[in-house]
Amino acid sequence: MKAVVWQGINRMVVEQVPDPQILQPTDAIVRVTATAICGSDLHLMDGYVPSMVHGDIVGHEFMGEVVEVGSEVRKFKVGDRVIVPFPISCGKCWYCQKGLTSLCDNSNPNAQIAEAMWGHSPAGIYGYSHITGGYAGGQAQFARTVFADANLYKVPEGLSDEQVLFLTDILPTGYMAAEHCDIQGGDTVAVFGCGPVGLFAIKSAFLLGAGRVIGIDRFPERLEMARRMGAETIDYGEEEVFERLKEMTGGNGPDSVIDAVGLESHGTGIGGLADAVKQTTRVLESDRPHAFRSAIMACRKGGTVSVPGVYGGLADKIPLGAFMNKGLTMKTGQTHVHRYLDILTDHIVRGDIDPTMIITHRLGLDDAPHAYKIFKHKHEGCIKCVLDPWA
Ligand code: NAD
Ligand code: ZN
Repeated sequence: MKAVVWQGINRMVVEQVPDPQILQPTDAIVRVTATAICGSDLHLMDGYVPSMVHGDIVGHEFMGEVVEVGSEVRKFKVGDRVIVPFPISCGKCWYCQKGLTSLCDNSNPNAQIAEAMWGHSPAGIYGYSHITGGYAGGQAQFARTVFADANLYKVPEGLSDEQVLFLTDILPTGYMAAEHCDIQGGDTVAVFGCGPVGLFAIKSAFLLGAGRVIGIDRFPERLEMARRMGAETIDYGEEEVFERLKEMTGGNGPDSVIDAVGLESHGTGIGGLADAVKQTTRVLESDRPHAFRSAIMACRKGGTVSVPGVYGGLADKIPLGAFMNKGLTMKTGQTHVHRYLDILTDHIVRGDIDPTMIITHRLGLDDAPHAYKIFKHKHEGCIKCVLDPWA
């Protein structure tokens, strides 16, 4: 089959690879009908995520049709149309039972690598390096999915692929980011980054009761999309964001601030686990993470900083003095996608959210290298690329 594979920094290529096989009785094979490129994939491309190996199949936003199930799969059968949440839940451990599925204790067979870096391991993630399990990803014609009963989510009839594809990741991610702000009626929320995650955070903040949302970015088409979602906007290439946010909020600063940027692409990635320390040193020598530091400084006293943005190394520079003395709360994490699927599907069915709004590019899998390039550099007005593995 065809798949997008990582062949080093800035080298995402399409290759012929063996078809996936059922390896465990709880597995299911999905024929992928739609898959997307995520801001998190750019961190792989940049070499920021340790433990990628040449030839790894990438992609964690994918859906399709079940074509084969293992002997212990009970809830799904051949022919079912499903979306596949990006974090893998075993469905049984303490974390999964509590709905904290992105922290599953049993889905990362390489937990020891993550434990060496961070003390404990998050859940396994499709197509996201060996530190999160080394699972083959879904930017491919077929994908092996694991713990199928606990993970696959049946698509309700009448909804198109494009309407539900982003339930795999960015829509719940934007929603959880907004939920983490604990919005009280009428609050003002600022969102750094108006990429797909930031845009869905803006939309979700309104759904959860925000009075005002302020989106910050520097690409006109992204700022325009933020305004279409109902936000006011600040162009950080043109304006001093801290001063402007203060001015817009009567001197206080926003009640909560979302960092929907994460690791910024500066081409300083290294890629291998052995070099994690070197990578950390580079981060500490730079002024990154820029948006996160700005979020802490801009937030009002006693407010919340919500961080869906992905960080991956051992350490980052954080202004802890401001954080402590302003009495801030921080909430973050990979998204517990599973817990938001019913509520967000309802919003889609009711028409409260139209996730297709953000799609600017529809391409075949063969065009993935180009798609990665325009999504990384925000060229051609690119906001979100959806790939068809069979085009
Ligand atoms: P993206 O690259 O399309 O969007 C990032 C946006 O941030 C861009 O529009 C960029 O112009 C803007 N930006 C960069 N520096 C900025 C700054 N200093 N101030 C304001 N804006 C700035 O990516 P995306 O797909 O929207 O993803 C955003 C982040 O969310 C990434 O770090 C990604 O890894 C992360 N993510 C996290 C989860 C999760 O589970 N927590 C899931 C998906 C994505
Ligand atoms: Zn993603």
